[in-house]
Amino acid sequence: MNAPAAQNELARQHLIDPEICIRCNTCEEMCPVHAITHDSRNYVVNFDVCKGCNACMGPCPTGAIENFRNVPKAKPYTLEEQLSWSVLPDQADCGNMEVDGGKDVADVSTEVLRITSVATAGQGGPVLAPWSAAHPYVNLYTNANPVMATVAGNLRLTAGDASCDIRHIVLNFGTTPFPVLEGQSIGITPPGLDANGKPHLLRMYSVASPREGERPGYNNLALTVKRVTEDHEGNPVTGVCSNYVCDLKKGDQVQVTGPYGASYLMPNHPGASIMMICTGTGSAPMRAMTERRRRRIDQKEGGELVLFFGARTPGELPYFGPLQELPKEFIDINFAFSRLPDQPRQYVQDLIRARADKVAAMLADDNCFIYICGLKGMETGVIEAFTDICRARGLDWNTVWLALLNKARFHVETY
Ligand code: NAP
Repeated sequence: MNAPAAQNELARQHLIDPEICIRCNTCEEMCPVHAITHDSRNYVVNFDVCKGCNACMGPCPTGAIENFRNVPKAKPYTLEEQLSWSVLPDQADCGNMEVDGGKDVADVSTEVLRITSVATAGQGGPVLAPWSAAHPYVNLYTNANPVMATVAGNLRLTAGDASCDIRHIVLNFGTTPFPVLEGQSIGITPPGLDANGKPHLLRMYSVASPREGERPGYNNLALTVKRVTEDHEGNPVTGVCSNYVCDLKKGDQVQVTGPYGASYLMPNHPGASIMMICTGTGSAPMRAMTERRRRRIDQKEGGELVLFFGARTPGELPYFGPLQELPKEFIDINFAFSRLPDQPRQYVQDLIRARADKVAAMLADDNCFIYICGLKGMETGVIEAFTDICRARGLDWNTVWLALLNKARFHVETY
């Protein structure tokens, strides 16, 4: 418990940004003291319970968790106040003060957190970008200041008889700058109000095109969106945003925020290898990185691309079906199909085990960067495969993993 405080004493209050939070529950699961709670709209932090241990920081897939405000210690924001927010309050509205020649206490604390959370991060990955990644722009557009993009195309990627409808959506930003890097995400807010009469929450989608756009020089980008028709238990649901996006027509206007993400970025230095592990629409950032490399194939930058990709059937592969035409020396593709008739189910972790020597060599190579994206459930299986591969070579996965985190070589984005 925080002790009673004098009126003028300030405290750093940990808050969660409702504009960016995707309500994945990871922070609540990670908090060892149960300081994080939620209602149907917001995830919030109990000031009196939070010990500032940072266990929630690393696993957060969006960075919504990395928010702090200087508040009067005697009057921090209550849970009720936080639950009512659609946006975080500005620091100027929190009774803040400046220290150290103008730098805000919250900024100093956040910098420290960015560094310490690398050591304390869960399997969710580091908060650092690879050393050679380009500098990302983040939060250029917020819900209070969104950009309207125009739909330039909406292409069904999955086969006509596939059980799911996955779309390749191209958004055009016209003359509005919207710089993104491979691995970043954007937010889309569906129009209208939810059942409580409040504006819909934004939904985040990974960018599936490289930094220069789906079509270079056209200021556009691509997304990979699956029409959500059932929840993780297979119960029928209608995904509000996914159905809105999948039904968009050329010329429609879409409210976009972002870009988001400052750590899940591809390395830029020549010789950097990339191991990509994904399921379903988690292939979006892998497509962005692969396209970046494919368009620069003549530069002969070196470094391997190895892909482990899980889908139910070949007809449900977003991308990489056509990319199989790419030379084997450009990309080493390993498909795991889980629902082929008369075949045992195969998952990405099975193929990682089957390629144990290759995977072990890449784990040991400081020039190899690892990216995991897709279903949350896959993470456990992949980590178990890495653990077994290390153990068979006399290595402890936790030690290997911490070293990977500290070098910003291990990046996870699962939902
Ligand atoms: P999906 O079609 O449901 O599944 C893809 C494959 O993963 C299937 O073969 C599935 O096998 C397999 N799988 C299921 N559980 C697994 C496990 N525990 N370990 C390994 N493989 C497993 O995938 P999806 O609906 O496209 O979902 C992809 C996920 O990526 C979603 O959670 C989405 O939110 C997330 N994501 C999307 C984006 C985006 O930009 N759209 C970006 C980042 C992440 P079964 O046959 O057993 O089902």
